[in-house]
Amino acid sequence: MADIAIIGAGVVGVSTAYMMARRGYRVTLIDAAGAPGSGASAGNAAQLSWAYGDAMASPALIRHLPGIMLGRDPAFRIGWQADPDFLIWGLRFLANASPRRWWTNTRSILDLAAVSREELATLLRETGIAFDYRLAGKLHLYGDAASFQAARRAVDRKNGLGIEQRMLNREGAEEIEPALRLYQGEIAGAVYTPGDALGDAAVYCRALTNHLVREYGMTTLLGHRVCGFRTVNQRLRAIRFLDRDDLGVDMAVLAAGPGAPLLSREVPEARAIRPVRGYSLTIPLTAGSPRVSLTDVKRKLAFAAIGDRFRVAGLADITAVGAGFDGERFGALRTAASSVLSEFKAASTDETIWSGERPTTPSSQPIICASRRTRGLYLNIGHGMLGWTLALGSARRVADLIAR
Ligand SMILES: Cc1cc2nc3c(=O)[nH]c(=O)nc-3n(C[C@H](O)[C@H](O)[C@H](O)COP(=O)(O)OP(=O)(O)OC[C@H]3O[C@@H](n4cnc5c(N)ncnc54)[C@H](O)[C@@H]3O)c2cc1C
Repeated sequence: MADIAIIGAGVVGVSTAYMMARRGYRVTLIDAAGAPGSGASAGNAAQLSWAYGDAMASPALIRHLPGIMLGRDPAFRIGWQADPDFLIWGLRFLANASPRRWWTNTRSILDLAAVSREELATLLRETGIAFDYRLAGKLHLYGDAASFQAARRAVDRKNGLGIEQRMLNREGAEEIEPALRLYQGEIAGAVYTPGDALGDAAVYCRALTNHLVREYGMTTLLGHRVCGFRTVNQRLRAIRFLDRDDLGVDMAVLAAGPGAPLLSREVPEARAIRPVRGYSLTIPLTAGSPRVSLTDVKRKLAFAAIGDRFRVAGLADITAVGAGFDGERFGALRTAASSVLSEFKAASTDETIWSGERPTTPSSQPIICASRRTRGLYLNIGHGMLGWTLALGSARRVADLIAR
């Protein structure tokens, strides 16, 4: 069987490694970091959002855009850049925000999420790995009647696809999640999705990597940054590194998440990805913390009880490729979270802070294809706000593409 390298040990890369190892390939999993799950997958909101595949470019966001551009929404920031790729991305993002494009993109994402859900059931059965997976259900909380009513159309459309979602008033939501009685935010209504699940993406990456090494003899090459590819007649021959000898391979899948645009000289498709930075705070779970996953739509906050931890994740800062995080944004996240749930009022000594970049395309759809430039190289990148949800479905799609 062929040798294949997977570049990137986040949720997308490790899931791709799993799919390829199961199909009999000799897999080498490569990452610049010293451990799997150290990038965008490390401290995300943990949601397996099978029913919430909503594309980021939407009519609702466009209506909101003037406020965002004037800096009136603490959840968003746009770091303006004199970079042609940024401008092209912005124009393509706007073109994707029409009602028709939004629904086309959302439908495709929901289809991919359904494949992921199916593959996750197989993975849980076959591997038995533990990563605090739980069928938690999810409540989207709407702060005003207008936005709640506007959600009805999408709920009806999703119901039409066989996805179970229900619209509830505040009392109905409190029945599902009694901890909401102490929720300080406005709740004009809620959309409840009983089938959505959650799990710790970083633990998944580590546990699945260990399983693949043990059960399939997968090789790992951690702590080594890929800087390019060696080709002969445009056919991939080897992976090039900054700090070690080339690795000869028959094929490779680039699954470098927000790191992919840094390789865009050799992989021009990766120019279509912009980092959208987010932040999270994780504290010990208390008896009163909500167990059902919550999304506060107005504040753009996601709350999740993951094992014995409670996490809030949020903020969406469109930044330059390679830019670092802004320490002050943890304060903004704490202010927003503590305004609705008292758990986040004071910085606890047991608190873990984290920031990561969502590798986002203008359509919110990932790029899953063969490289235009290099035969034998495949791309599985650009999963944006939903990489954890879409990882296994994307892995199956790229594996099917390679098998063709
Ligand atoms: C605040 C926040 C909350 C989120 N919440 C959710 C959620 O609830 N549900 C959901 O589905 N998604 C969520 N996401 C999105 C999700 O986390 C990402 O889409 C997903 O982690 C992307 O996975 P990835 O494997 O593509 O990238 P990563 O996890 O970043 O993995 C890429 C890996 O490639 C490595 N790499 C990069 N370049 C190189 C190179 N040149 N050489 C070698 N290695 C390299 C990196 O070190 C990294 O480990 C959230 C994201 C954020 C920021």
